[in-house]
This record gives sequence, structure tokens and C-alpha cells, in this order.
Amino acid sequence: MIELKNIEKSFGKYQVLKDISLNIEPGKITAIVGPNGSGKTTIIKSILGLVKPDKGEILINNKSVIKEHLYRKDIGYMPQVASFPDNLTVTEVFNMISDLRKQSVNGNANLINILQLESEMNKKIKTLSGGNKQKVSACIALMFDPKIIILDEPTAGLDPVASANLKKKIIEQRDAGKTIILTSHIMTEIEELSDNILFLIEGKIVFDGTLKNLVELSGQAKLENAIAAMMDKDFKWN
Ligand code: ADP
Repeated sequence: MIELKNIEKSFGKYQVLKDISLNIEPGKITAIVGPNGSGKTTIIKSILGLVKPDKGEILINNKSVIKEHLYRKDIGYMPQVASFPDNLTVTEVFNMISDLRKQSVNGNANLINILQLESEMNKKIKTLSGGNKQKVSACIALMFDPKIIILDEPTAGLDPVASANLKKKIIEQRDAGKTIILTSHIMTEIEELSDNILFLIEGKIVFDGTLKNLVELSGQAKLENAIAAMMDKDFKWN
């Protein structure tokens, strides 16, 4: 469904992505994990067309997306930190994005409800707490019923109820056949949500497979310890 072939990206002299090739399976949740600065967001932004790779190809449904933009209407994206026009209310932001995407809102009422955003709908963005801005961002990622959902640290900053409800929603979306990519530093969240794991270190994929395989390969019982063991430069990959 989403295929990256030999992607390379440098910012100045610094090579951030080193010959990345991967396949994101449709109808599954794939977690991209790795230390800060390992290139997770750069991979996501390349898929979104927000970063232009220096080399390689990105295919969505077997079609190259480089120099394309129409494919983006099938993607819902929740960035790590979202910024919206400060003087608009939440309702106005939702309407503005609906106008820009030329897509009508689908299932938004339920999202507003489960994320407990009702009381915030007529408030200006600048008056919202960080957590409530995250909820607005989650709503926008999901509200056009996209086929592909990309979530960069989706529950960071959310209260426990909103976080649990958003996770339920993510699983519900996967079960409805959506293709989901997420990043997270919360190991329990990765264990709860992901089917597949892409493990990135210094711009290279060091593991691409199921959660179960990763834990088995590490020789550790818990994902947290598995990831920590694999981050060790002396870890033996065989
Ligand atoms: P992660 O999401 O894994 O934390 P990123 O993909 O955000 O990592 O960043 C990987 C590296 O690329 C970091 O060292 C970051 O500073 C650098 N980087 C990302 N975007 C830019 C940019 N626009 N200009 C220069 N360096 C960048």
C-alpha cells in the first residue's frame, strides 16, 4: 500500500535517512520507533510530501507520489505539535479545513464526544490548553474518514480518559480496514496498538517486522527491554 524504495535525505551535510526501503501493510497499525533524531518524522513527512527525498521513490497503491498531491486527500495527519490560526474558534478551524480539503466531515460528532471537546468548540484556539489543541488535531486527522491515518505521538499531552478513548478509536479504525502509521515513545501504547514495528536508528531501519518477532529476536520478555537491548551498539543482529 505504502512503499518506500531506497529513500535518502540529507539536511546540509547531515544524512538523516540512509537508503530506507519499506512496505507499510494495509489494514494494519505500523509503529515507527527509534531514539530522538533517528528520522521518524522525516519518514512521515516524506510520505506526506512535506519533505522531498534526495533519492528514491515513494509509492502509494503502486503510484509514485513524488510531484503528486491528490493522494493527500486520502491521508489524515496528526502532527507532533499542531498550529492553527489563533483567532479562530475550534468550529471555525474545522470548517476552514473542510473547505480547504473540499471534503465534508464524516464521523466528527462522535470524535468530539469521545475526546470531550464539546465545551471547547466555541473557544478561540489561543485560549485552549495544549492537551485540547492535541484533541483538535486528532479530530482533524480522523474527521474526513481517510484511508491512511498518520499519527505523530498521538497521545502525548492527552489526559488519561482522552488518551484511552483515542487509542480505542485508532483500533476501531484499523479494524475498519484503515492503514495506520504512528510514532510513540510510550512502550505500553506500542504494545497495545501496533501490529508491525519499524525500528529506526540513525536513519537506518534495523528491524521491520511484527511486535512478536521483535521481542523474540531481542531475547527479552518485555518490549521496553527489547528496544533498549537493540539500541545498544553491541547488540548482535542475528
Ligand atoms: P525523529 O522524528 O526520529 O525525532 P526527525 O526526523 O525529526 O527525527 O529528525 C532527524 C534529524 O534530522 C534530526 O537530527 C533533526 O535535527 C534533523 N532535521 C529534521 N528536519 C530538519 C530540517 N528541516 N532542517 C535541518 N535538519 C533537520
